[in-house]
Order: sequence, then structure tokens, then C-alpha cells
Amino acid sequence: MLTTMVENFPGYRDGILGPDLMAEMRAQAERFGAEIISGDVTSVDLGAAPFTLKVGDVVEQTNALIISTGASARLLGLPSERTLMGHGVSTCATCDGYFFRDKPIVVVGGGDSALEEATFLTKFASHVTVVHRREELRASKIMQDKAFANEKISFEWNSELAEVKDVQEGVVTGVVLRNLKSGETKDLAVDGVFIAIGHTPNTSLFTGQLDLNPNGYIEVGTGSRTSVAGVFACGDVQDHVYRQAITAAGTGCMAAIDAERYLESLED
Ligand code: NAP
Repeated sequence: MLTTMVENFPGYRDGILGPDLMAEMRAQAERFGAEIISGDVTSVDLGAAPFTLKVGDVVEQTNALIISTGASARLLGLPSERTLMGHGVSTCATCDGYFFRDKPIVVVGGGDSALEEATFLTKFASHVTVVHRREELRASKIMQDKAFANEKISFEWNSELAEVKDVQEGVVTGVVLRNLKSGETKDLAVDGVFIAIGHTPNTSLFTGQLDLNPNGYIEVGTGSRTSVAGVFACGDVQDHVYRQAITAAGTGCMAAIDAERYLESLED
């Protein structure tokens, strides 16, 4: 729902807007009788079947549950970053890199994601500046070696984004960089800003009730099964590696099949 053009979902050779893709999926699910309730789940009890979910005052009970709450890209928290999201600011190079052909961009972060995105973006961008808050990268050595060897990538060490410009124009025209050691600021003209400072899986509802990995993602065993029988997980809430719409849809199909078989086994 948050992305603009989706260029890599099979079946849409000219691309499709994220919200339009979701509207298609919703209509297709409803054609098969899916009932959709919109609301924020405020609490879950997975202690015993039937499981209980609260959506405000509404209480739902179920024998099988598929969790697909996704992961949220971490943001820097600048008002200008939020205003210009989708207008030059992005959290997904695979989704949006294509729009920055022959243009200079910055990538913020010093982990594997930041360097992977920076390296990927050099296929399109004229130059990629990686802005990192320390002078040492967190990324693996192999990713570092690749990035250091790439002539299109340069680094701004000990630096942070003080602001993304230009909110007035409604499009990214540059960034203000602040050196964290000297406190000095300087302008850098760019057309795109990619924030790659990690993701947070949306699993706070399930803490203490399901096995999570050390980074908070839901642990799945065979297929989509979680540590609680009858509870299944799919998409980015259980996958920090691929994080694509199509891989999420694929694991969603796996979860649907697993849930159906589980319910059949209860009837047996
Ligand atoms: P990560 O390893 O947590 O790195 C996040 C980076 O963002 C760090 O360099 C961190 O700086 C920086 N950062 C965090 N908050 C910030 C803030 N508020 N302002 C400025 N900078 C900030 O996350 P990731 O790179 O997304 O990787 C997540 C996991 O996936 C890792 O285990 C990684 O190895 C794996 N991964 C692997 C590959 C691959 O192997 N191809 C690709 C992508 C991801 P500090 O270093 O100062 O903390």
C-alpha cells in the first residue's frame, strides 16, 4: 500500500501502482468469499485453541491463524523524510532504483542492506554516496570490498542527514549532511534518498506467545508453521532475506495450504 509503481510483480508487464495491486488482490479474494474486516488488532491470545483476537471492542475466535503483519522499514525520523517519501525518498532500491537513471543519489546506512542497495543502485544512478554515522561499516567484508571497488560509490563518514530538500517543491533536490565529529553541515545535490537502516518486524503483538528469532522475526519450521500448532506466518514478518511482494505472495499461498490442511486434520 505504501509503494508507488511496482515493476516486478509477475503478470503486470507495464507495472502497476501498489495500491491498485492491493485493490486487485482484495477483489479477487472477495470473489472467493473472503470476508475482510479493517482494523488494528489490539491483542491476541494464542494460549489455547480457539485463538482469540481483539480488534478494538470486536472479539474474533479462530482455530487457525495466518500472520502476515510484515516488517516496517526503519526511518530517520526527519519530517522532510516523511513528506518526501515516494517523491524521491525510498526504502526499497529494488522497487524504485529504476526511476533514478543517470541521477545522483544517497544511501543512508552502513549495514549489508545499505551496501547491497548502493551496489544495486549503481546500475541506474550516475553516482551513489553512502552516508554512515560512524567511520566503520557494519556490513560483511565481502559487501564492503565490493562497494569499495565500485567507482560509482563514495562515502561520507561520521555523517547524518540533517534534512532532505526540498519540501516546498515537493520533490527531492538534495540533502543537508551534518558531520557528527565537527558539527559542520554541507549541501549535496541529489535526486534520490534511499534509507537502508534496517527493518523492524511487526511482531510486538506476539512477543512471549510465539518463537521469534533474535531479530524479532517469527520463526517458521516446515512451510509456514510457527511454534504454536494452528498458527502460520508468511511474508516479511518471517522473512528478512527476500522481502519482495512476489515472495510474500508465494509464502502466503504456502500458509493458506498449511492452514487448510491443519483444519482438515482437526476434522479427522
Ligand atoms: P543492520 O545490519 O542492522 O544495519 C543497519 C545500519 O543502519 C547500521 O550500519 C546502523 O549504524 C545504521 N543505522 C541504524 N539506525 C540508524 C539511524 N537512526 N541513523 C543512521 N544510521 C542508522 O540492518 P541491515 O543492513 O538491514 O541488515 C539486517 C540483516 O540482514 C543483517 O543480519 C544483514 O547481514 C542481513 N543482510 C544480508 C544481506 C546479504 O548478505 N546479501 C543483505 C542485506 C541484509 P551502526 O552500524 O552505527 O549501528
